[in-house]
Amino acid sequence: MFGYTGKLLCADLTGSKIKETKTPEKLARAFLGGRGLGAALLYKELEPNVNPLSPDNVLILMTGPATGTPLPACPRWEATTKSPLTNMYLCCSVGGFFGAELRFAGYDGIIVRGKAASPTWLSILDGKAELHDAGELWGLTTEETEVAIRKELKDKRARVASIGQAGENLVRFANIQTDSRSIGRGGAGAVMGSKQLKAIAARGHGGIEVADEEGLMMLMRELIAEMKRNQAVQEFSKFGTTQFIDPVNEGGLFPTRNFQAGVFEGAGRINAETMREQLVKKDTACYACPIACGKYSVVAEGEYANTFVEGPEFETLWAFGAQCGVDRLDAIAAANMWCDRYGMDTISTGNVIGFAMECFERDLLSKRDVNDLELKFGNHKVLVELIRKIAFRESIGNLLAEGVRNAARKIGRGSEAFAMHVKGLELPAYDPRGAWGMGLSYATACRGGCHLKAWTLSAEVFAPKYDRFSTEGKAKLVFEKQNIRAAMDSLGVCIIGGRAIGVEEMVRVLAVTTGWNLNVKGLLKVGERIYNLERLLAVRDGISRQDDTLPPRLLSETLPSGPAKGIKLGKKEFNRMLDEYYGIRGWDVEGRPRREKLEEFELPKLLEG
Ligand code: SF4
Repeated sequence: MFGYTGKLLCADLTGSKIKETKTPEKLARAFLGGRGLGAALLYKELEPNVNPLSPDNVLILMTGPATGTPLPACPRWEATTKSPLTNMYLCCSVGGFFGAELRFAGYDGIIVRGKAASPTWLSILDGKAELHDAGELWGLTTEETEVAIRKELKDKRARVASIGQAGENLVRFANIQTDSRSIGRGGAGAVMGSKQLKAIAARGHGGIEVADEEGLMMLMRELIAEMKRNQAVQEFSKFGTTQFIDPVNEGGLFPTRNFQAGVFEGAGRINAETMREQLVKKDTACYACPIACGKYSVVAEGEYANTFVEGPEFETLWAFGAQCGVDRLDAIAAANMWCDRYGMDTISTGNVIGFAMECFERDLLSKRDVNDLELKFGNHKVLVELIRKIAFRESIGNLLAEGVRNAARKIGRGSEAFAMHVKGLELPAYDPRGAWGMGLSYATACRGGCHLKAWTLSAEVFAPKYDRFSTEGKAKLVFEKQNIRAAMDSLGVCIIGGRAIGVEEMVRVLAVTTGWNLNVKGLLKVGERIYNLERLLAVRDGISRQDDTLPPRLLSETLPSGPAKGIKLGKKEFNRMLDEYYGIRGWDVEGRPRREKLEEFELPKLLEG
């Protein structure tokens, strides 16, 4: 098999057993790798109804055929598991260097089961895997863990994926951190914590045999040239994702104070130019990526001095900025740094803090409930302390560590109406009342309220091809974007690099790495197959139409200002999009894939046994 190392590592932590298995070719051909192959293996390996934090949950880390090749912006790999936040299927894409290093060490992926008797870490060095005592690492931040493991291995270039205190304490939105990047959303870090697995380190000196070396080098040169030419890509090199602050705010869909408004008056103080001017010290990149969209920031003085962080990115600027009514860049950077160190998802953390602020302002949480914190919108001083409390599950932090859905259930008294999540996953930085396609995208994303499975903003707001306040064409738009993204995540291609790597180029990526010749239609069909498989996993976890919805606030209240002022995305309009979407997908009215659809993609045959 060209494009694959051909081996998976299986670690059963309960019995400290490690073995190798072959990367299954039939499944790799059908699902490519990364997200698709991870989902297929999860379907086969995971029993339905498993508690996500029990030893029976399975955590799969999987690379794609492009991961670790010299192709630019193709470092991505995927973590797949059952989420402790949503209690359903979870997939998380990440870049950095770990995926490439894992392949150099000889493996396409890792399947982790069971629970270690005591804290443990796993090393994978040039084809040799070993479990180690992590007693001394338990309690360290992700950064400290990385430093300690590199020291232990006497290798500064070892790549480490680790959890911080949030994962250890089973915070339901804990991350796995690697190379200053986050395997975020949905709590894969808590799954690692529940298994007492503190970290995985990889180092290797092998290569990846590809089908067409010359073709790959030619494609690499063409893609690098296109990335240099492409204006959209260049904007990412300069500003990263922070460039979205102004257009999203001006478009009136920048969720402010827990989605009570869509325009944030302090946006100019946290936007791309301000950040570049005040905080950014250097640009950083993932493996073999010339774009370098990462922004390393330093706060040198003031009350947040000694803040060093890769970021904040757009979503984090929103989460601790507009969502909490805070316009202090230094405070946001510090909040970002502590989330990364403790290993916690910034979107979920900011979302749940904004929710708590609204509860406090509405007297649903008393001063005593929040340990005398002045939990008001705009009070930057509470952020770092509240983040610490969440990571250590201390007092109010223990409630918020359960995620916004569970916190609202506990607080009750109408707070569920403004708990901003879909299927338990906290919503990110776009208000769907300002771009209705994003509403359908959130409602049907395979892991809950996520913007990354189908980002319709470009087609609805930035370079509009659709009326953003209409249902017209949105079902097809979301369907197509979801399929493309599924294929991209399975190959190992970065979504930002995707500005230069279109579907035609992805077909070539697949051909030069694996030798498999699909055309554009064929590749999109693979994406559609993956999305159907993910829906099967969700249905198995009990998901149906009633879960494919938006928080009550978004379907009943209108925005008070900006271009979306007074425009209502009502239930009727939302249901029209959803019905059309199910129809295009070939799912029934409850959102279950029909038998014919599953057979069209040979899913029963592929998943049996
Ligand atoms: S564009 Fe950014 S996130 Fe994507 S591979 Fe390059 S550096 Fe990593």
